[in-house]
Amino acid sequence: MKVRAQIAMVLNLDKCIGCHTCSITCKNVWTNREGVEYAWFNNVETKPGIGYPKDWENQERWKGGWVRKGNGKIIPRQGAKWRILSKLFANPHLPEIDDFYEPYTFEYEWLQSAPELQAQPTARPKSLVTGELLNKIEWSGNWEDMLGGEFEKRGHDYNFDGVQKEIYGQFEKTFMMYLPRLCEHCLNPTCLASCPSGAIYKRAEDGIVLIDQEKCRGWRMCVSGCPYKKIYYNWSSGKSEKCIFCYPRIETGQPTVCSETCVGRIRYLGVVLYDADKIEAAASVEDPKDLYPAQLGVFLDPYDVKVQEAARAEGIPDQWLEAATRSPVYKMAMEWKIAFPLHPEYRTLPMVWYVPPLSPIQSAAEAGKISALDGMPDVRSLRIPLRYLANLLTAGDEEPIAHALERMLAMRSYMRAKSVEGRIDESIPQRVGLDRT
Ligand code: SF4
Ligand code: SF4
Repeated sequence: MKVRAQIAMVLNLDKCIGCHTCSITCKNVWTNREGVEYAWFNNVETKPGIGYPKDWENQERWKGGWVRKGNGKIIPRQGAKWRILSKLFANPHLPEIDDFYEPYTFEYEWLQSAPELQAQPTARPKSLVTGELLNKIEWSGNWEDMLGGEFEKRGHDYNFDGVQKEIYGQFEKTFMMYLPRLCEHCLNPTCLASCPSGAIYKRAEDGIVLIDQEKCRGWRMCVSGCPYKKIYYNWSSGKSEKCIFCYPRIETGQPTVCSETCVGRIRYLGVVLYDADKIEAAASVEDPKDLYPAQLGVFLDPYDVKVQEAARAEGIPDQWLEAATRSPVYKMAMEWKIAFPLHPEYRTLPMVWYVPPLSPIQSAAEAGKISALDGMPDVRSLRIPLRYLANLLTAGDEEPIAHALERMLAMRSYMRAKSVEGRIDESIPQRVGLDRT
């Protein structure tokens, strides 16, 4: 057993309101500089949507993550040949600026200097690339929100007859959710494996993945190699950059900026212990649906005395061991099994996990729109399809997601009952199935 400590994050998607405060505060602290205007170490996507950069989940196109070969070994999808060839030719699997968006600011001066107009002047978007005022913005993150808005506007004009009604009916069946994203600080990072310069490293003490700016030669194999597209090339310095998990703050006992400023309080930080000897086997299991349970299998019980002894022998300080026993990440991901890794099929063993969104099941359940199953609402009739959540979080396995949602629904009912006049109705756990789950 080779015990390692990892700082990790769980995001409860049920509580994300898509306000982007996390992205803005992160940008102000880390990427408010020349060369990385387009970069958002933290971004919040509208899902289902193609995201930022466009189509980042399409690994056939970008060649990110690992693939399992016939002999059971895993290799970076882009293969070793591109590591060598990219020194001679341009890497063909890189997203370009239009895949992110043309960075723009706003012409605020216009608010002061506009001539007298009938309408109030508004700050127009101005390209940060050309400095020109833009008549319209062709693309940016959360573009799907705008499309949805357009559709809704048009939908309200419909008279609900014939074809028009059919179209509006389709709109009513749509769903959306917010997905905040940052570097996953993976246990098995392909960015690290892809770097020809050996510039990327995973810190032994806390698992944070960093790029040594002195060693980076700007080959950008990490940009294509990262399946989450969370490495950004700085056109000014000629080096690659990424989320550093706010390590100067972590080292002084503070949370990351995105966690501290999150309006929905959706982010939980915690230490987990894992067995580094099990990483390769866990990342190489044959069936992608087994990757989530395989990753659970690499985590160690922080209360286990043998684990604690092995951890001390590896030099993990008592302070971190104590933090591991209080870790909300351990509780939500490993004990309660309500949090899941994003796209485990990329085989990087990511360490930013997500609680799937329950909303709006409660109101639907109260309105009797969800059929009862064993006294519990059937989560299979959720507005956000179980299949969609499973494809996002468990490589398509619906069972663990359904189980997590049932638990959350039971817990919500319990907590609501508990808050009435400060008393707990003892029959509630049994009635909502909490004792069952
Ligand atoms: Fe590397 Fe982060 Fe991408 Fe994982 S998510 S491969 S650690 S850049
Ligand atoms: Fe979601 Fe929190 Fe970010 Fe707002 S600050 S978008 S609630 S993660």
